[in-house]
Amino acid sequence: MNETPSGSPIRATPTGGGGDLTIVGVVRRFGPVTALAGIDLAVRKGEMLTILGPSGSGKTTLLKVVAGFETPDEGDVLLGARTVTFAAPAKRDIGMVFQNYALFPHMTVAQNIAFPLEMRKVAKADAAKRVEDVLRLVDLAGLGGRLPRQLSGGQQQRAALARAIVFGPRLLLLDEPFGALDRKLREQMQLEVRRLQQHLGLTALFVTHDQEEALILSDRIAVMDQGRIIQLGTPQEIYRRPVNRFVAGFIGESNLFRARVAGQGYAALDGGARFRLPADAPPEGTEIGLLLRPERPKPLANGAAADNSFAGSILDVVYLGETVKYRIRLDPGIEIVVRWPFHGSAGSLRKDDRVTLGWSGEDLHLVEWS
Ligand code: ADP
Ligand code: MG
Repeated sequence: MNETPSGSPIRATPTGGGGDLTIVGVVRRFGPVTALAGIDLAVRKGEMLTILGPSGSGKTTLLKVVAGFETPDEGDVLLGARTVTFAAPAKRDIGMVFQNYALFPHMTVAQNIAFPLEMRKVAKADAAKRVEDVLRLVDLAGLGGRLPRQLSGGQQQRAALARAIVFGPRLLLLDEPFGALDRKLREQMQLEVRRLQQHLGLTALFVTHDQEEALILSDRIAVMDQGRIIQLGTPQEIYRRPVNRFVAGFIGESNLFRARVAGQGYAALDGGARFRLPADAPPEGTEIGLLLRPERPKPLANGAAADNSFAGSILDVVYLGETVKYRIRLDPGIEIVVRWPFHGSAGSLRKDDRVTLGWSGEDLHLVEWS
């Protein structure tokens, strides 16, 4: 996307700092279903916070409560210091892009984008200038006269994004906005939205079930399951220090083993294998999950030592461009997945080859099993 023209009026509404959006104890039930089971969340000014969770975890309901399309049974929503729990959507100063929040089909792209400005009684000449600016910003310069159906899917989502930001909302909500786009276009849009959000200093709440999208886009991620936030942290924290089995399994590729802490800094896995643990292991007897990311184990040269070392056989090999993924059966009967940089076919292993893997106790991350 293009740079903002200097002096552009498209700016996030300035605020006093602190939590720009604060969600306090929000509960929403639909009959017997508790869609939101007590959500507390503060989104900072200028931050892109992603709600990541499986289908049905309550993401859309949360966004609707923030937007004002749903009223919570309990709790409050604040924009800055103002409580808006029961305010009408139009009174909240929020821009929205939803997967199926379509453009008005009978209006041109420019008319669509001008619509929120008309609603706010912005003078015609000023509105026209802002529409021009935002069209350039989302790379649709010159296409304002087209009807939505004359645009590609990606262009339509850019137009929807332009309409959501043209009035300088204090908060931008995006609910799986790229779900309908093919992979390449989706990746391109992710980077562009991120750039635009940072460039304009927008405060944004982004919803997705796609962990890769969350890792690419976010300042922080809130992982959601069954109407609760299970973990809130930076992409790095969530990836490296997941709090439990659900988060570990949901984010990134992982080897996850159930184990019981044994004596002398070891854990016993089901089936009898023993892994050396990191220094901060819990007391003997505790049931834990051991998380080993696929990039951690390394092939050990003959005779080299490691905290944990196991011989095994390659079950299969998948080339992924920059990296190669191997599924390996270790001799104690444990299957693990490893992923290493691809160094050309000469150095790579084949199915049924024997290999010895090593990793340190510190490479293991302990998570709650339950
Ligand atoms: P997500 O966006 O994470 O897929 P939703 O917020 O759409 O999840 O839904 C959360 C739960 O609430 C689901 O079990 C869903 O069936 C239920 N739900 C959402 N909206 C309604 C509604 N209007 N009436 C009844 N149940 C609903
Ligand atoms: Mg949803």
